[in-house]
Amino acid sequence: MNITRRSFIKSLALNSAVVAAATVFPGISFGAWKETDILSGGIQWKKTPCRFCGTGCGLLVGISGDRAVAVKGDPNCTVNKGLCCVKGYHSVQILYGKDRIKKALVRKNDTLVEVPLKEALDLVAEKMKETIKSHGKDAVSIYGSGQWSIPDGYAASKLFKGCIGTNNVEANARLCMASAVTGCLTSFGLDEPMGCYEDIDNADVFVTWGNNMAEMHPVLFSRMLANRKSKTHVKIIDFATRTTRSSQAADKSILFKPQTDLAVANAICYEIIRNKWVNWSFVKKHVSFHKGKTNIGYGTTWFTIFTS
Ligand code: SF4
Repeated sequence: MNITRRSFIKSLALNSAVVAAATVFPGISFGAWKETDILSGGIQWKKTPCRFCGTGCGLLVGISGDRAVAVKGDPNCTVNKGLCCVKGYHSVQILYGKDRIKKALVRKNDTLVEVPLKEALDLVAEKMKETIKSHGKDAVSIYGSGQWSIPDGYAASKLFKGCIGTNNVEANARLCMASAVTGCLTSFGLDEPMGCYEDIDNADVFVTWGNNMAEMHPVLFSRMLANRKSKTHVKIIDFATRTTRSSQAADKSILFKPQTDLAVANAICYEIIRNKWVNWSFVKKHVSFHKGKTNIGYGTTWFTIFTS
């Protein structure tokens, strides 16, 4: 990077403005390139979901002109109640990161060549048209990101179902959950993990099992910590293959060798059955085809188990 004395001093001034703004407006992350907006206060706040992890925090993004310049947690969002983690706070800065991909690689004569994104997209469109012409509309499909927003998914569905006329629309959001959905359906009778975020405010014991919530879902983890802080009996047990920030915050950290935790799950099931904590009417209603080989039951302690 070529830094001149002038650009260095300018960047120092910018950083000072950003630091000063952050002091005046705690809880807001500003983009450094718009220090005039920060100081003039000419920012419009727009609601949006954070797209970094699946927690679903509500954000307010500060818009100045045609650019996003600042971000903060939405105090009216029931998920994060104004909180925001470091990933959410960086969602505006990364829009203008100098190292964002602005070119595509296209293979030409067995060599990958850098081309403008438009050229690469035109090539994809041309190949799709050729494929549809030769093999029909069901010869093409789209596989979307798990981070698709509703408008993204809507646009993709419109294009593939409405315009092209194929049902071949899939997204990672569904496929990556397919095994979990099958497990939840057969074990609990519902196609989704049990409980809701409010359970976190009311649970007595948390077991984070193979999941580093402190870093992966920090806003929910802070909700867990807030619950523990407000009551003396609340405990967090971290059950993982390595020590993480979640382990460090836990009351008890248990390390296991990779792939040995099934034995622990079976031991828990054994204890639940042995102590007659199983709600058999529930089990028979929801998992009758398991015929006694069920893996679920209720204990007297509420366990919230997060698995990744
Ligand atoms: S926890 Fe962080 S990354 Fe996840 S949705 Fe909330 S702000 Fe975004």
